[in-house]
Amino acid sequence: MHSKVESSFIKISKNNKSFSLLLAVIGLCALFFCVPAQAETIEILYEQGESGGFVTIDWVWILFFLFAAFAVLLWLVRSHYLQQLIGKDEDLDRASMRLREAQRIARIGSWTRDFETGETFWSDEAKVVLGLENAEDIPHYESLIHPDDLDRVTEVVATAYFQGGSYQCDHRVIGQNGFEKHIRLAGQVALGEGSSPVNETGTVQDITDRKLAEMALQRSEERMRSIINAAPYPILILELAEEYPVLYANQSAYSLFGLNEAVACEELKSKEFWSAPDDRSSFVETVLSEDHVFETEMVMKSQGNRTFWASLTGSRLEFGGIKSLFISVMDITNRKRIQQELERLATTDSLTGLYNRRSYFELANKEMRRAIRYQQPLALLMMDLDNFKAVNDTYGHQVGDTVLRRFAEVLKYNLREEDLMGRIGGEEFSAILVSSEEQGAYQVAERIRKRWLEESFDLVGKQVTFTVSIGVSIILSEKESIEDVMERADVGLYTAKRSGRNCVIVNSAEAGTQARGDRSR
Ligand code: GH3
Ligand code: MG
Ligand code: MG
Repeated sequence: MHSKVESSFIKISKNNKSFSLLLAVIGLCALFFCVPAQAETIEILYEQGESGGFVTIDWVWILFFLFAAFAVLLWLVRSHYLQQLIGKDEDLDRASMRLREAQRIARIGSWTRDFETGETFWSDEAKVVLGLENAEDIPHYESLIHPDDLDRVTEVVATAYFQGGSYQCDHRVIGQNGFEKHIRLAGQVALGEGSSPVNETGTVQDITDRKLAEMALQRSEERMRSIINAAPYPILILELAEEYPVLYANQSAYSLFGLNEAVACEELKSKEFWSAPDDRSSFVETVLSEDHVFETEMVMKSQGNRTFWASLTGSRLEFGGIKSLFISVMDITNRKRIQQELERLATTDSLTGLYNRRSYFELANKEMRRAIRYQQPLALLMMDLDNFKAVNDTYGHQVGDTVLRRFAEVLKYNLREEDLMGRIGGEEFSAILVSSEEQGAYQVAERIRKRWLEESFDLVGKQVTFTVSIGVSIILSEKESIEDVMERADVGLYTAKRSGRNCVIVNSAEAGTQARGDRSR
């Protein structure tokens, strides 16, 4: 394009120069021929002594000066336009240089094709992009296209020739040196009358680096996918975007979550995997805040709302160039059940189902600390079945066990859910009554004593009842420990035993050991 403009400019300036020269020559000729001629005429007129000679001389000079002035004016106008043209030419030069530089940096070459002449003009960078910078003649573009891509490119270009408008097609070319290059070919076809293409402009861009990187990524992604898919444990890959879309879920994940295999990963909703929706965001946030792999256990949900315990491992991952989260899920429901069962066994008394001594003391201590912190009252009962040895001796050990179990039931029935109950010895029980004052605790203890007395057992053909003695105490000072309160209740219990059993004794430090119970029903 530049050379065409350049040549037209030279033509114009040459024409201008010739025109100016022509004017100059005409001017000089006029001077050369007219002045002597007129001088001669003047001379003759003088010699003849004609009176009108003076007028003739004047007219000739005026004409001469007018002609000369016109020539000078034309010269000046010519010079002015010539300057403008030179300026434009320089601007054009600069623009072309910038365009060449921009094309070189972007590795994008341009081209134009005239369908009338069949000529194609390739920019310098286009030649470089196609690996033809040293070629004397540019071969037909089709001959450069990789044979495997030729049909595809031809189809795209032919459609554009038929419909007009733009097209884009990535393909490979084989350069002069035999190396393969990946090219992005883009074109714009202008249609003329009869919808036939008139001209075409476009670009060629070297996208080899990008394509190779993409292919490498694709290969590694395919490898990763095949590894993930073959993994025996469920794997989810979530995109780190709003609502954490599912980028990938392997076969095991599909079966764990009971998903329909006809549903594509992209259509799955990650929030439906968690039983509590907030668990998903808290899990993702923790993974993102951790530098290493994060592990936790959460309740998850499969199709049909079946909940299960899962061990989740999460870490950050770049998946197909997308910032994402890699999550492996393991169904640990069975393990969790066993674990919970073991915990239950470890904390409860197998005969009565109440807390065993160790866990009761632990929990009682926590309750006591909480009560002190929130300045809430708290009472403690110590209970011991009366003459229990005789029960065993009379009715046998099994009956003894039944009696113990039944007493635990009575306790559960007469205490609130938030209260704490434990079997702390053979036939010894204890309870923490939360938010309970001394008077209230006494009443509860009395109720238990009476209900237990009402509990009758059909043993060897007759109805037998049993009794219980109870010691009660409350927290008296913030400085106390659970052992202090328990010890006071124990003293109360001991007093109850000494007082003839089947009674409740409240032991408060201020009032001293004080019996408040009776043996009535
Ligand atoms: P007191 O009124 O003074 O408490 O008399 P007691 O007989 O209840 O007290 P003692 O401590 O003498 O007897 C407790 C008995 O409880 C002895 C033991 O055989 C019985 N015992 C302890 N644990 C169990 C158990 O798990 N099952 C049965 N059946 N009996 C138990
Ligand atoms: Mg005892
Ligand atoms: Mg006893």
